[in-house]
Amino acid sequence: MFVEVAVNLPHVYGTFDYRVPEDLEPVITPGQLITVPFGSRIAQGIITEVRDRTDVAETKSIEALLDHIPVITNAQLELARWMAGTYKATLIDCLNLMLPPGLSQQTDSSYQLVLMDAAVSSEIQERILKLLHRRGELRGRQLSRALPHQRWKKAMDTLVRRGVVKRSAVLDPPSVRAVYQRTARLAMTPTAAGARVREIGQAGSAAYERRVCMIKTLIAEGEPLEAQWLYAECGGSLSDLRILEDHDLIILSDAEVWRDPLEEFEYVPSQAPTLTPDQARVWTAIKQAAGSDSQIPFLLHGVTGSGKTEIYLNAVEHTLEQGRSAIVLVPEIALTPQTVRRFLARFPGRVGLNHSQLSAGERFDTWRRCRAGDIGLMIGPRSALFMPLQNLGLIVLDESHDESYKEQARSPRYQTRSVAIQYQRITGSICILGSATPDINTSYAADRGRIQRLTLPQRIMGHRQRLTSQAQRHGIQPQYQSFKDDALSIDLPPVRIIDMRQELMAGNRSIFSRALTHELQETLNAGQQAILFLNRRGSTTYIFCRDCGWVARCPRCDASLTHHADDDRWHCHHCGASSPQMQACPNCSSERVRRFGIGTQKVQAELESLFPGTRTLRWDRDSTRAKGAHAIILAHFAAQRADVLIGTQMLAKGLDLPLVTLVGVINADISLNLPDYRAPERTFQVITQVAGRAGRGLLGGKVILQSFQPDHYAIQAAAQHDYETFYRRELGLRQELGYPPFANLIRLIYRHPSSKQAETEVERLGALIKAEIQKTNRRIAVIGPAPCYFGRIRGLYRWHIILRGNKPVDVLPAEIPDGWGVDIDPVSLL
Ligand code: ADP
Ligand code: ZN
Ligand code: ZN
Repeated sequence: MFVEVAVNLPHVYGTFDYRVPEDLEPVITPGQLITVPFGSRIAQGIITEVRDRTDVAETKSIEALLDHIPVITNAQLELARWMAGTYKATLIDCLNLMLPPGLSQQTDSSYQLVLMDAAVSSEIQERILKLLHRRGELRGRQLSRALPHQRWKKAMDTLVRRGVVKRSAVLDPPSVRAVYQRTARLAMTPTAAGARVREIGQAGSAAYERRVCMIKTLIAEGEPLEAQWLYAECGGSLSDLRILEDHDLIILSDAEVWRDPLEEFEYVPSQAPTLTPDQARVWTAIKQAAGSDSQIPFLLHGVTGSGKTEIYLNAVEHTLEQGRSAIVLVPEIALTPQTVRRFLARFPGRVGLNHSQLSAGERFDTWRRCRAGDIGLMIGPRSALFMPLQNLGLIVLDESHDESYKEQARSPRYQTRSVAIQYQRITGSICILGSATPDINTSYAADRGRIQRLTLPQRIMGHRQRLTSQAQRHGIQPQYQSFKDDALSIDLPPVRIIDMRQELMAGNRSIFSRALTHELQETLNAGQQAILFLNRRGSTTYIFCRDCGWVARCPRCDASLTHHADDDRWHCHHCGASSPQMQACPNCSSERVRRFGIGTQKVQAELESLFPGTRTLRWDRDSTRAKGAHAIILAHFAAQRADVLIGTQMLAKGLDLPLVTLVGVINADISLNLPDYRAPERTFQVITQVAGRAGRGLLGGKVILQSFQPDHYAIQAAAQHDYETFYRRELGLRQELGYPPFANLIRLIYRHPSSKQAETEVERLGALIKAEIQKTNRRIAVIGPAPCYFGRIRGLYRWHIILRGNKPVDVLPAEIPDGWGVDIDPVSLL
């Protein structure tokens, strides 16, 4: 008996044949995790096939079976094969996506002395034997610690070959650690604390301001606060809190927090509402497909708040009733807690959660529960698609247009939408791609009948009964328009576009247009909440010299640096490095080194000076770096402990905040200016999503869109909530220019610390590909080789070659040379 094995070593393409030892024959099956000898090493591997014969003349034998239960299901194996072919990746890279971290690793070995009193031929051998004799069975890692700086492995190999020592492969159980959350509270009365703030730093310094802010916040809130909340509010870090503690102003304490990833979510069990007529129509179509052999995926197209999630909930319920399992993918768990909570509430006890912030132990346990058939519904970002669910019946992608569904960083660079559709075919499941702003390619596939489009045109507000009593409680005149049975529908909020060029001409140089200032004032006066959205993508905050034009750049990346008020330093957003501010220009010694552009901190500062006393909250990558920070910020805003939430791209995800009546988009068009064919699509999507955040409650809402290109079709269509017009226009342009969906793109990226070497290598591969195109007479355009827009990141020069045409994958070399990244159907060309 033989097996074909995908070996877990980097850059190893293909599979290898091994012999099965006789005692293992009865239990060997595809998908099992084993160890095999590979060259001089022992490597982990996964059995991809079991066979009676092999063409290989000499095969080695499997070393050990690590787990009798397969770690990969048959459906997953088939999916991994498809991915490897489609995305030009190694099979093992695809299989590794399906294993929890800690399992997919090079195994450690365990060594046991079996022959006492064996002769030794070297000093190191003797030391190994003594160690094993004294301490019993040892791990490779323990030996490395006990014999530091010594090459014990070779000596050990000899001992193993001679039968003196027995080696077996082991997997460490995942290490699970407790997670703690730090809280701070005042150590004295507010008055006493206020009197003593002078002691905590040099008045006027940034550090001093931060610490005063922390004390003030604690006084204002009147209760212990999470440290994260204070950082989000005031900037700063633990060192600031420690100083306050040293001065006896506050007391810090640690509270252990959840180990169960679901404990974080509070929820009340809920019942399914009666579907609206629109929902009922959509649901009937899906249910019919579930009962037939139809394999066509669905595109569920409905504006924000149109009841898509309710459809997913129905579909999950139906799937579970059939004894099958379901996967619901969301862009990012931390940004969509409300969606997650609704699933928990409807299916208590049956939900598993998977995301990158879980500890290794939590993830391993969740994976094992899936494998055991213990979890009916898996929720998570794209990685959750690869959990080993048994008897899968449903795959849902919420916000399916989201760019987080594309893996961009490492191989396989897969598109989750495509993988989900393939997985649906393999497992005979239902697949639903939901979105308010479907990806152009998905819509086009629906036009061509490859996907079935279902629409939910009306925004739902919720139950009449609940809303009416809520309105009475608040003494509000409700603003809803029409009635449908139990549910009420409301219109999308009106959007006003403000031409920022005219603001400039009128002498208004503020971040806020006069209209936005006015609306903010009204909103704050009425005690309602506002969201300010800052389009960060492609935004140009930089530091430059007014006299010579010198721009501060990261020494390792091409990126320009950004000033952070938190620590008063200059930061690189590509590699995270920071450096102290320079007072004078290194080029011309001028002292007129200035910051340019808008960041969330600047919006916050200007807002606070315009409207003193306004409680603001920042929600961006900087204020949410720590675990749990998202949830805290959202909870504080939802509990009305702030009036204005200032945020970046994260705001566009699935947030439902009924008290928000104003959405201001500070710079709608900034992302239009990037040299990328998807720039208009991305801009339209994000603005439409953000605009949809207003007016989800009884109070109605308004959107103000500030733009320097108010006539651009993406801005105009977003302001009208008009997907159809945008889609037709964009599709026409793509056809003219020969971009997807009318052609396929491939991007080949090469990175190297030497720019010369990078250039030489891309020219080499470029010439090879061009020759192949000519030889096969294919109509494929080659763009480049050229440096990428972000030409240098983390000290590595980046060059790319872009192929455009019909199936350009055909002209790629069979094995991609080392150092290259292949991105099939890239979503960004920067
Ligand atoms: P989407 O997922 O498209 O944003 P949701 O499913 O979240 O939309 O629905 C929007 C709001 O309407 C939610 O508050 C939801 O509870 C409510 N809702 C959805 N369907 C119904 C229904 N059939 N009856 C009453 N309320 C509903
Ligand atoms: Zn200068
Ligand atoms: Zn950098």
